[in-house]
Amino acid sequence: MTDLSHPMTVAGTAPATAPAVAPPLWLLAELTYRCPLHCAFCYNPLDYTSHNRELSTEQWVGVLREARALGAAQLGFSGGEPLMRDDLEVLVAEAHTLGFYTNLITSGVGLTDQRLGALKAAGLDHIQLSFQDSTQALNDFLSSTRTFDLKQRVATAIKQHGFPMVLNCVLHRYNLPHVDKIIDMALAMGAEYLELANTQYYGWARQNQAQLMPTREQLEEAEAVVERYRRTHGDRCQIFFVVPDYFERRPKRCMNGWGAVFLGVAPDGAALPCHAARGLPGLVLPNVRDMSLREIWQESDAFSRFRGLDWMKEPCRSCSEKEHDLGGCRCQAFLLTGDAANADPVCDKSPAHEAVVKVVNAARRAASGEQAREQPILFRNDANSRQLAAAHAGGEPCGRSHTEG
Ligand code: SF4
Ligand code: SF4
Repeated sequence: MTDLSHPMTVAGTAPATAPAVAPPLWLLAELTYRCPLHCAFCYNPLDYTSHNRELSTEQWVGVLREARALGAAQLGFSGGEPLMRDDLEVLVAEAHTLGFYTNLITSGVGLTDQRLGALKAAGLDHIQLSFQDSTQALNDFLSSTRTFDLKQRVATAIKQHGFPMVLNCVLHRYNLPHVDKIIDMALAMGAEYLELANTQYYGWARQNQAQLMPTREQLEEAEAVVERYRRTHGDRCQIFFVVPDYFERRPKRCMNGWGAVFLGVAPDGAALPCHAARGLPGLVLPNVRDMSLREIWQESDAFSRFRGLDWMKEPCRSCSEKEHDLGGCRCQAFLLTGDAANADPVCDKSPAHEAVVKVVNAARRAASGEQAREQPILFRNDANSRQLAAAHAGGEPCGRSHTEG
C-alpha cells in the first residue's frame, strides 16, 4: 500500500524538474459543516464534528483574494449549509468585486426573502437548490427534517428575485423511480437547469451504501425517462444526469485531474484537492492558516501527489487510456482497495474490479428479496459524527472500509 504520510519528493518518485502548474479554475468555499439537515448521503466527512474551528470572515476574504489572484474564476459557496454563516453576504460582495462568477449551493433553509434581496444586492450570480425527492414523505425522510414545503417556497422566491436556478437532486434506489416527477417539479418551478446526480459513495453515502445502491434496471429506466424529457422539454430546462460509475467499465476522469482545476477549502481552512480527500489516511492537507494558496496549489505534497500521470502504478502506468481517465478516482481506489495509488476499481482492468461487481450484485439481490438489506440508514448528525470520530480515534476506520465491502 502507498504510504501517503511520506512526501512524494522524499520517496523519490517526483520528477526532477516539475512542469509549470496551471492555475485552478474553480474554488469551492465550504464555509461551515453546520447544517440543519441530516441527509443520508451527505458528502461531508463522517468526523466533521472534529473539524469545527471555522475560518473568520477576514480569513475567508484572504482566501478569495488569493484564489482570484491565482486565476480561479468560478466560486461555489457551500457547506454544510452556507446560510448558517451570517457573513455570507459580505463574502459574496467581496467575490463579486474580485470578478468571480458566484454560485450559492444551498438546502434553502434560512434563505429568507430578506437574505435573497441582500445576496442579490451583493452580486450573487446563481443559486443551486437541493431537493431530496418530488414527494414530501421521501424528501423529509431522507433529510430527517420537515423541509419539503419550505423548499417549495424558497424555489418560488429565488425566481421572484430573478436568479438563475439549478435544482439538484441526489439519486439512489428510493427516488430513481420518481425521476419523471422530479423533472416535472423542476419544470413547474422554472429551474433553468436540473442536476440529477446519482449518489457518489463517499462520506455518509458510503456508510449507507447497502441501502442506497440502485439496480442497473432502475438506472436504465431513469436514463430513458431523462432522454424522453430532453427531447420534449430540453429548451426549457437543461437536464444533467450524472451517471453512477459503479455500473460502468471505465472510471470517471475524477475532478478533471487531481490538482488540475479544482481547489476546495474546508470550514477549518484545510485545502482539498477533491471533496473527499479528507478521507485519505496519511495525506497531510495543507491549511490556509499556515501557507499561501499559491504555495498550497503549486508546491504542497497533497496537491502534487496525484497530479499528472507519474504517480501511477500498473495497470494504469502502461495503459493506453490513462490520459483519458487519469486512472479514475483516488478516494474510490482507497475505499475499495485500501491504496489510493491503485487504479480505480470501477475499471475492469483493475485486479480489484470484483469489489465493484460485488456491490452491484448485492443491490440486485436485495431488490429481488434474495438478500436482506442488513442495516438501518445512518443519518448525518452531530451525535453520529462524534461517535464515528471517537471510534476512529480508538483505532477503528472512520466508516466502512474496503475490508467490509
Ligand atoms: S447533503 Fe444534506 S446534510 Fe449534507 S450539507 Fe447538504 S443539505 Fe446538509
Ligand atoms: S487501467 Fe487505469 S488508466 Fe487504464 S482504463 Fe483502467 S483506470 Fe484508466
